[in-house]
Amino acid sequence: MKILIADDEDGTRLKLETLLAKLGYDVLVARDGAEAWELLQREDAPSLALLDWLMPGMDGVEVCRRVRQSSKVPYVYIVMLTVKGQKQDLVAGMEAGADDYLSKPFDVDELRVRLSAGERILSLQEDLRLQATHDDLTGVLNRGTVLDILHRELALVARKSVPVAIILADLDDFKQVNDQHGHAIGDTVLREAARRLATPMRPYDAIGRYGGEEFLIVLPGCGIESALVVAERIRCSVGKKPITTSAGDVPMTVSLGVAAVESAPPRGADELIQSADDALYRAKRGGRNRVEQSSNPDAPS
Ligand code: GH3
Ligand code: MG
Ligand code: MG
Repeated sequence: MKILIADDEDGTRLKLETLLAKLGYDVLVARDGAEAWELLQREDAPSLALLDWLMPGMDGVEVCRRVRQSSKVPYVYIVMLTVKGQKQDLVAGMEAGADDYLSKPFDVDELRVRLSAGERILSLQEDLRLQATHDDLTGVLNRGTVLDILHRELALVARKSVPVAIILADLDDFKQVNDQHGHAIGDTVLREAARRLATPMRPYDAIGRYGGEEFLIVLPGCGIESALVVAERIRCSVGKKPITTSAGDVPMTVSLGVAAVESAPPRGADELIQSADDALYRAKRGGRNRVEQSSNPDAPS
């Protein structure tokens, strides 16, 4: 796990660096508050930080305050390093949003166990974050989260003129699975279908459960042509072989509707989803297990 040490004293910094590396941490070092703040704003920022209270320029408390104000995700667990006995420091540090503190000179074992406590909190935070953003049954994003991502990507279309495509994917005749085998087997099929839907996707694509057996896929940077290729891969991925369950093999296919925004001014999310939904409806009417595209990529179909 990555950890940031920010301390202007060479001695303390070096001691901490050696110690934390020995404990297995991936250590980043800052010599003052400004450098610490810069490192903590990065995309791949450490989620554990040991900040000295007193540093030239921006002090540890100010760094802490800024991190909390930025509501950074994932959460940064902050331990303040204070000089022994200065109670006001401690109060100010905790008020600024520090999670814990350690008096200097610190005890090595105390440092180790406090950091383990921090890791436990971070792991709980991460569990909560996953629960709040993901669908329990299938493990893909939930509706709210995938819609947030779509809104964010649509804002980028306007700002940076990059296209974005969406796919609405609906499992075919899924009700029959429940009717024939019961809801529990239906759940198994749904889970495996979601896994297969996600398999052909790139790391920066997003998939969320839009409704019962319907999924919304957001493809940043994709125009309609590349989105159709992805949709076709997804169709094959889901239907290539039956899904094995305790009630036997269950054949499953998916129908997909594709729509894209290629240039500003972009369509709103609702309008784009409506276009994909119209295309999906055509895929269903056309016999299922097929891909259809919105009739005009940049206008409502
Ligand atoms: P079509 O090809 O037209 O999409 O037909 P369909 O049967 O897939 O669609 P329909 O909308 O008629 O039925 C969807 C079914 O999905 C009905 C609902 O009970 C089932 N379903 C929705 N959510 C879940 C779930 O979480 N678990 C299970 N087992 N079934 C679910
Ligand atoms: Mg269906
Ligand atoms: Mg449906």
